[in-house]
Amino acid sequence: MMFAEDKPREECGVFGVFHHDQAAMHTYFGLHALQHRGQEGAGIASSDGIRLYCHKGRGLAAEVFKGNELDKLPGDNSIGHVRYSTAGGDVAENVQPLMARAQIGSIAAAHNGQIVNANVLRKRLEEQGSIFFSTSDSEIILHLIQRGKGSMMEKIASACRQMDGAFAFLVLTEHSLYAARDRYGLRPLSMASFDDGYCVSSETCAIEAIQAKWLRDIRPGEIVKFSEQGVQSRFYAQERSHRLCAMEYIYFARPDSVLEGLNVHAARKRSGELMAEKDREAGIRGDIVVGVPDSSLSAAAGYAEAAGLSNEMGLIKNRYVGRTFIEPTQEQRDLAVRMKLSANGDVVRDKRIILIDDSIVRGTTSRRIIRLLKEAGAKEVHLRIASPPLRWPCFYGIDIATKKELVSARVDPVKLSEQVEADSLCFLDVADLERIYGQDRCCYACFDGHYPSSLYDHKEEADPAG
Ligand code: SF4
Repeated sequence: MMFAEDKPREECGVFGVFHHDQAAMHTYFGLHALQHRGQEGAGIASSDGIRLYCHKGRGLAAEVFKGNELDKLPGDNSIGHVRYSTAGGDVAENVQPLMARAQIGSIAAAHNGQIVNANVLRKRLEEQGSIFFSTSDSEIILHLIQRGKGSMMEKIASACRQMDGAFAFLVLTEHSLYAARDRYGLRPLSMASFDDGYCVSSETCAIEAIQAKWLRDIRPGEIVKFSEQGVQSRFYAQERSHRLCAMEYIYFARPDSVLEGLNVHAARKRSGELMAEKDREAGIRGDIVVGVPDSSLSAAAGYAEAAGLSNEMGLIKNRYVGRTFIEPTQEQRDLAVRMKLSANGDVVRDKRIILIDDSIVRGTTSRRIIRLLKEAGAKEVHLRIASPPLRWPCFYGIDIATKKELVSARVDPVKLSEQVEADSLCFLDVADLERIYGQDRCCYACFDGHYPSSLYDHKEEADPAG
């Protein structure tokens, strides 16, 4: 990932700890490891067996917990959340976990994903008297749970059955922690043993960070309850499938995470190898390989290894440029690119470069990067994209908002190559991704328009003619 404004963005990450005397502190460390999944807000709720406590705010986890806030989160159980807003917007009320009082006690919820029938559910809940204090989808989960019947497990199962789309959420009560995953498994969620207790995380990199021991992924359509009685599991839906978001592998997840048994770095390397295979068949040969930092570096390594070329640091990222930098004019935007990224002149001069990036949203950043390389003396730049063209919006919690923003929805690869001023441009296709991740294992809807769920009131937005 290089420029957040020209890349899809992840919505959130969740992390929970059950039965550990420093639950809040380890949740904080877990959130740190998940920070790449959202930087606009962070929060932790904890339970001491009598009541729930919560601290949250806008900004990075280190900014929200910069004083002694963790000391005010007692108890052995906690859940945490890092947020990037898609549904609901970037407002303070939407920062999670969200808390509510239910008939059978207090609950806190932290959610990753997007519920596609949120509008239908919200309207129905409001008609039944529910009052919403945020615009976040996640509050719908709390209301549905509150209105459910039976035990907390039954209430959560009933809430899950009513929701469609993508969700991986954690619920904390005074005595238990629940983890639930949507019936398609769109968003990742894993569980681990942690000393005498357990932890649950959006990605395994956070499990490693606190030295917990990975046990397994939570399955699509499954709810797992952690309590003093141990671990209980149940499925809430008959129809379930495996449709993990392919963009998790391509771009969002940290390279050291393992999703559904496949290491993210290894999957990205394989995508680089496939691109090298295609170029070998097409007779395209470069002098060096350059990956756009950071998420394309694994694919660049795979390409270079397969092609027998050297993988060079031709682009240098400035890690200290503020993430809220706003560039209103074209001149300022160009200047911002130069502040964020530099071409390494001595490396790229007079070279035919195979430039690897993970995806193209608008295409504007690709053009700026190619210009940077050519101004630094590159002879040719062949852009290779480690995913298929993004043509459809995502309604599952990834900010690929409208078809208007997606250049590949309007322009074919040949035209796009001219537009970004590349000497050639090549994408992977969905069949390539299936070779890497396995068949019928992932959602590829933003590439092929085959959404795993019904789209409810988003149908028009998904219309290819739209
Ligand atoms: S539509 Fe794309 S970004 Fe959204 S869940 Fe599916 S693969 Fe992921």
